[in-house]
Amino acid sequence: MVRPRILILGAPGAGKGTQSARIAEAFDVEHVTTGDALRANKEMDISDLGLEYGTPGEYMDRGELVPDAVVNAIVDRALAEADGFVLDGYPRNEEQAEELDDMTDLDVVLYLEVGEEELVHRLTGRRLDPETGDIYHVEYNPPEEPAVESRLIQRDDDDEETVRERLRVYRENTEPVVERYEQQGVLERVDGEGSPEEVWEDVKATIEAAS
Ligand code: AMP
Repeated sequence: MVRPRILILGAPGAGKGTQSARIAEAFDVEHVTTGDALRANKEMDISDLGLEYGTPGEYMDRGELVPDAVVNAIVDRALAEADGFVLDGYPRNEEQAEELDDMTDLDVVLYLEVGEEELVHRLTGRRLDPETGDIYHVEYNPPEEPAVESRLIQRDDDDEETVRERLRVYRENTEPVVERYEQQGVLERVDGEGSPEEVWEDVKATIEAAS
């Protein structure tokens, strides 16, 4: 089978990262995620681009979008190298969606739907194991081992104030992107409120039916 080209949309905290990791494994495609790429390059010097701030991290820690010029270049390069992909965290505004149209066709566009208060709860309770990269939640999914629990950290942008700002930025910039794919008749809605396993069953079935 030709490997599918999948776009996964959804608000911060909707579970895009979790589901994308499963998609990448099950369908043998590349997980292309702008959030992880930018976190790995938070201190990159972008001061010569004449933007407001000199590094991606300064935008990220405020909950703002990193400028398109930086993000488009990351995605363009990653997609050119991928044989099938799940794209997670991009496009986040209409300009990026237009760029993506020029870069590639898509086989499936998934949209994970989760209500706002649940998003805030998921994000502010999210914790990361810096040694393994595993993601936990203080309430939904705490680690069993005390040694793991004691080394967990919170992502810099998961405090409540920044989370609210990220959701505002999402509503303003990214919801129009969701509408764009809706109008094109290609948006596959998936209820994202269940457990990761429940959501995965729907995600997997939707990809299998659409690709
Ligand atoms: P995420 O891990 O997807 O929640 O992304 C974390 C942060 O990285 C966002 O709040 C933005 O500051 C930045 N970021 C990730 N993807 C993009 C994108 N496509 N466009 C602009 N900024 C992005």
